[in-house]
Amino acid sequence: MKVYNTLSRQKEEFIPLEEGKVKMYVCGPTVYNLIHIGNARPMIVFDTVRRYMEYKGYEVNFVSNFTDVDDKIIKKAMEEGVSAQEISQRYIAECKKDMAAMNVKPATTHPLATEEIGGMLEMISSLIEKGYAYPVADGTVYFRTRKFKEYGKLSHKNLDDLQAGHRDIKVTGEEKEDSLDFVLWKPKKEGEPFWESEWCQGRPGWHIECSVMSKKYLGDEIDIHAGGEDLIFPHHENEIAQSEACNGRMFAKYWLHNGFLNIDHKKMSKSLGNFFTVREIGEKYDLQILRFFMLSAHYRSPLNFSEELMEAAKNSLNRIRNGAENLQHLWKNAKQEQMTEQETEIWRHTDEFVTKFETAMDDDFNTADGISAVFELVKYVNTEVNESSSKELLDKLYQRMKLLCDILGIILEKKEEILDEEIENLISERQAARKEKNFARADEIRGLLLEKGIVLEDTREGVKWKRA
Ligand code: AMP
Ligand code: ZN
Repeated sequence: MKVYNTLSRQKEEFIPLEEGKVKMYVCGPTVYNLIHIGNARPMIVFDTVRRYMEYKGYEVNFVSNFTDVDDKIIKKAMEEGVSAQEISQRYIAECKKDMAAMNVKPATTHPLATEEIGGMLEMISSLIEKGYAYPVADGTVYFRTRKFKEYGKLSHKNLDDLQAGHRDIKVTGEEKEDSLDFVLWKPKKEGEPFWESEWCQGRPGWHIECSVMSKKYLGDEIDIHAGGEDLIFPHHENEIAQSEACNGRMFAKYWLHNGFLNIDHKKMSKSLGNFFTVREIGEKYDLQILRFFMLSAHYRSPLNFSEELMEAAKNSLNRIRNGAENLQHLWKNAKQEQMTEQETEIWRHTDEFVTKFETAMDDDFNTADGISAVFELVKYVNTEVNESSSKELLDKLYQRMKLLCDILGIILEKKEEILDEEIENLISERQAARKEKNFARADEIRGLLLEKGIVLEDTREGVKWKRA
């Protein structure tokens, strides 16, 4: 199995540190809002990497954090007049719902930055002791970037170029030794959450959080560290500097980064208004379609999101699902139990598609080619099975399709969709029941719709509904 390593800018053979085991850390979202479809990309692609590793027989320890202390969280809390913790807990819960709807498996551990402050204080102290960090008068602690000789090795940046880029930037902390130095700990501002430390009452910088959580749950050395490509610099570069300076060991062997998701060929941003949350997309589409859409491109390529492409993904996924449904239908009505000799040949022939799938995935998780192999399997199966096929063959073929789709995290069963017309009819019936004071029936209809994910709202203009 080959993986592209940002560190070496090459595809490398994957050799785990410990035989049969994979230690993997994926930087998680900052929780101050519902996640957007850009955040969903690393979740889906690295969940697929994990699933493939598990399929290959590795025991995967998968850690992904929630950044639950951050300027944006504090700002939102102040706007709403609630605590930062209330904001982060609310959006962690919402994020977990979105992950489940996209069939992203929960991590082995989902650490929260605010619960790991002790470890951060320890690592910062150790960096100060080793001369890699220093506190200044106001209690800020900085990392002494130039002291870490390999700084820049991940992002392939040169320190002097970086320094030149920094020349015009005013150094905020007056006593910062070098403009390249970055914050490990910073003093609280009025009304902000804080923790006690020997330097000041304050909170950690963002980079130290991941170095500490990775060390605690996976150890000093890990196999894979991953995230979106925007994290290469400075976040991951700084994580390497902190961890390697503190532990004296290589931090992560392979660095994997996903490309960005754009909307209508433009960068997704709130100011451009071309911004979709996973929740919004889920109101229109089964989120399995979003997952399928994400996997139809290579994870390192930029990916464009548009309605047309989602419609195309919907049709493609339906082709696979219809193939599977056909097998189930034939199986229910099949007369013959055991495979015939000819059917054994058909079954053997499908090995070819599994090999194709594995070859694609072994080549840096090429899910696009993996999906093509699934299509080839479906196409072949569609031409080879019919009413006289045996139960054994039909079942084996179905299980094979399911196995490949499971690796991609794609659920073969279609989500039962309720049509708009059916909803409208039920709402009319509910209105009529209420007029007749038959409130039991009216409530029953509300419950029925809720079960299908339809939420009703009684407004002055009448009843409104939406898909939850
Ligand atoms: P954040 O909450 O901004 O720290 O982002 C969480 C994860 O989502 C990180 O791995 C980011 O690199 C990734 N991410 C954010 N925006 C996008 C995007 N438009 N496309 C792909 N990945 C993204
Ligand atoms: Zn991180």
